[in-house]
Amino acid sequence: MTREDRAAWQALCQDRFEAQAPLSRFTTIKTGGPAAWLLDARDEEEIAQALGLARRLGIPTLVMGCGSNLLISDAGFDGLVIHLGEHFARMSAVGNRVRAQAGVTLKALAYFAADRDLAGLTFAAGIPGSLGGGAYMNAGAFGGEMAQVITFLDCLDPSGKRLTVSVSQAQYGYRHSRMMEEGLVVLGAEMRLAPGHKEDLYQQMREYQECRREKQPLTYPSAGSFFKRPAGLFAGALIEQAGLKGLTVGGAQVSEKHAGFLINTGEATTADFLALKAQVQQRVQEQFGVMLEPEVRIIDESPAP
Ligand SMILES: Cc1cc2nc3c(=O)[nH]c(=O)nc-3n(C[C@H](O)[C@H](O)[C@H](O)COP(=O)(O)OP(=O)(O)OC[C@H]3O[C@@H](n4cnc5c(N)ncnc54)[C@H](O)[C@@H]3O)c2cc1C
Repeated sequence: MTREDRAAWQALCQDRFEAQAPLSRFTTIKTGGPAAWLLDARDEEEIAQALGLARRLGIPTLVMGCGSNLLISDAGFDGLVIHLGEHFARMSAVGNRVRAQAGVTLKALAYFAADRDLAGLTFAAGIPGSLGGGAYMNAGAFGGEMAQVITFLDCLDPSGKRLTVSVSQAQYGYRHSRMMEEGLVVLGAEMRLAPGHKEDLYQQMREYQECRREKQPLTYPSAGSFFKRPAGLFAGALIEQAGLKGLTVGGAQVSEKHAGFLINTGEATTADFLALKAQVQQRVQEQFGVMLEPEVRIIDESPAP
């Protein structure tokens, strides 16, 4: 760490970082304590600089898109949260290829493609995340997933160095990617789509959304399906068969409508969700011998109880 690094960090603290920023306002599950520093990133250079400095100063970093798959400790995050949002919202199309920045929402991306008679992203329209979060998580629904359409990703490594990752280098699997393994920041991606008809694509997105409204507890804050699908099984079905619908800890509850969703009934804390998660895991393990693994990314540095 040099004197220049410290000075550069302090300048960012003064001009660009929000200190003690409550993260519950960014997460769809509506829990999470403050970030020591929050950067609503304006451009790639700013992220690269912040990453490089944080690394040299030994400060942990966390990248956030729409916060729809995050459960953050009530104690918050003692480091720098880098948010990619409205300043990373450009999209363009050439032929059947669409390029977009990481802060574009999956919904906006799906409609942008449909407006241009391009098929392949209707599955993503109802996923309340960003392209960056979707590409990192390999988000998917209704038989589609991001890995099927992405051709390459523009990324930064944890030191702030730019790299291009082709889809074959992205090590995509079920809710898994190389970006997770290596802590790469997704700046944007290119997607190759197929010819389609906008009216059919809109219709399909309406049907998918109707299906979500029917099956999912969308009127409560949540992070979507809390657990990954165990091979050949459904987490929600196992939780339901274990008789856990409605199980409640504080303000966190196993949804009565869809047992795969853990919902915030009002005043839940992250501690409530962690305790509920542990109970669900234990009961499902006892009954079916299956250990459910969270799909939600848990950011909690406190030691396990
Ligand atoms: C009601 C509801 C329904 C959902 N349905 C689905 C579904 O059908 N299918 C599905 O797959 N998911 C679903 N989800 C979960 C979630 O929407 C997806 O995982 C989504 O892709 C997360 O994107 P995000 O921008 O919100 O990411 P965040 O929640 O902000 O972050 C999630 C993870 O991605 C990382 N990340 C975010 N942006 C970047 C970036 N630019 N570069 C590198 N890392 C990044 C974060 O560090 C974190 O580890 C649902 C969630 C809700 C609330």
